[in-house]
Amino acid sequence: MQQDLINRLNKITEQLSVPAQERPPQLLAVSKKHPPDAIATLYRAGLKRFGESYLQEALRKIQALSELDIEWHFIGPIQSNKTKPIAENFAWVDSVDRIKILQRLSHQRPQNLPPLQVLLQLKIGNEAGKSGTDKTTIEQMLNMAKTMKQINIRGLMCIPPPSDKFEQQQSHFMQAKQLFDQLQAQHPRLDTLSMGMSNDLQAAIACGSTQVRVGTALFGHRR
Ligand SMILES: *Cc1c(COP(=O)(O)O)cnc(C)c1O
Repeated sequence: MQQDLINRLNKITEQLSVPAQERPPQLLAVSKKHPPDAIATLYRAGLKRFGESYLQEALRKIQALSELDIEWHFIGPIQSNKTKPIAENFAWVDSVDRIKILQRLSHQRPQNLPPLQVLLQLKIGNEAGKSGTDKTTIEQMLNMAKTMKQINIRGLMCIPPPSDKFEQQQSHFMQAKQLFDQLQAQHPRLDTLSMGMSNDLQAAIACGSTQVRVGTALFGHRR
């Protein structure tokens, strides 16, 4: 079991270090629906970044693993009545897609903690009901955040509509990469483009992802 985890980690690490990459993408281990001991195993193998989508489940694990120096990312949809515990317990929030959420996180991030690291979630493809927002709102949030002392926007995150075709995956990721490059020209501090999951890792890497979010390919299927 533990050895399976380590074997899968090694395989993914290999995929990330394709020679073409000047700097391999970071690996965010998506641990939702997986137990604390699996997280601890990967932590001991060298992983520091873990992503969770469900707040109550995440808070339990953060508590259980508080001895470990883990960088916790909240990556799920955010309801506005849940922003306070998110602002208090996570280092990163990778799924901000509304101005109201950004404002609440800014007010609720405790002064004694470092600024919250934030990714803005870009909507890619036109699937109804999927989270994410458009370029205009992203630009607005970037400008607003200039005066938010407890918010540090680091870049974009996206979850394109699922597809098994590499070309389709690439065309979605290229849209995100293009916008990221445009925004970076105006906001040089942006350094993170989070895209690519178990199923579309290769396409995301080919399109310049700086951070992949991998659950299933690392932990196995969720229970
Ligand atoms: C669950 C999840 C992932 C990981 O998905 P896998 O297909 O299991 O790799 C990545 N990003 C987000 C936002 C998720 O919710």
